[in-house]
Amino acid sequence: MIKFLDLQKINAQYNEELKEASNRIIDSGWYLLGEELTNFENNYASYCKSQYALGVANGLDALRLIFRAYIELGIMSKGDEIIVPANTYIASVLAITDNELIPVFVEPNLKTYNLDSFVLEEVITSKTKGILTVHLYGQIAIDDKMLALCNKHNLKLIEDGAQSHGALYNGKVSGAIGDVGAHSFYPGKNLGALGDAGAITTNNEELYTAIKALRNYGSHKKYENIYQGYNSRLDEIQAAFLNVKLKYIDKDIEGRRAVANYYLSNIKNSNVILPEVLDDKSHVWHLFVIRTKNRVRLQKYLLDNRIQTLIHYPIPIHHQEAYKNYNHLKLPITELIHKEVLSLPLSAVHSIEDIKHIVSIINSY
Ligand SMILES: *Cc1c(COP(=O)(O)O)cnc(C)c1O
Repeated sequence: MIKFLDLQKINAQYNEELKEASNRIIDSGWYLLGEELTNFENNYASYCKSQYALGVANGLDALRLIFRAYIELGIMSKGDEIIVPANTYIASVLAITDNELIPVFVEPNLKTYNLDSFVLEEVITSKTKGILTVHLYGQIAIDDKMLALCNKHNLKLIEDGAQSHGALYNGKVSGAIGDVGAHSFYPGKNLGALGDAGAITTNNEELYTAIKALRNYGSHKKYENIYQGYNSRLDEIQAAFLNVKLKYIDKDIEGRRAVANYYLSNIKNSNVILPEVLDDKSHVWHLFVIRTKNRVRLQKYLLDNRIQTLIHYPIPIHHQEAYKNYNHLKLPITELIHKEVLSLPLSAVHSIEDIKHIVSIINSY
């Protein structure tokens, strides 16, 4: 079986360094808010070309803390509208509604699966305070028009960079293009911890300071609390693992791009719609997502030929039971995407034989 994702194989590449790191943390007796986290925050800020980075417990918390900080700073208030692509992973929307902000679901562009800045102006109201853009599948979802709109309407541009570590836009790095970025280091992400972890990047000192307190009970000084905060810290052991894996991320992206480019040049089947790339540097290929009319049939055919695929994502957010109040929405592009998408195996540790096998099976479908 060709696995969709082989985390064992991915982490085996760094076996010695990861074990050395975990031994070091175990022996240190210091497990939270220590040297490893500070090092990781410095390393990751520098990788993202961002002034500040803050480690938090996971990607969802990174997003939740960003909105909560904007509320604490008086920049957003409950009931304000946040524009979000309707086809994102549910975490993006959970962070908005958790803060009692209102998600405004916008249909994505059917070619890039990302927010289309040409439709944004129509949905901006006097209540709109921000755009949560999601670099879905690893491709940057920001363009000059979006930046200009944010400027014109005084909107915060928040990046959900959970899938796009290292993707570039005009030399700027995912998470450091807009006002603030949320990052996830869930094990299956392009930069994955060995458990849950996340981060925030920003150049805004005020926002940084607020989130730094919010992630630690709202405390800026021990036993002094300025906010009713959370416990959302990034463990020393995960920070140590991330310090190891961050060194290899650019090599990993290169490996991903090689697989993606091989798929793009060699998959030839009129039943399959391939993803579109804006430019090579703007996509880090967290997922290689194709579309096909009869997805059940293609997925079964691939499985019969020992190829495991996944669906990102089978049910749109506005059809989820958790969001009953949005079940009435009609979002045909989003619904079509959820019906037709299929993600092929893609990683830097898949062998070229595996990738060739996948291509030849798809071409014979
Ligand atoms: C994974 C993911 C998240 C959430 O990250 P966690 O670390 O799993 O909480 C948020 N947004 C998107 C687009 C994601 O893919």
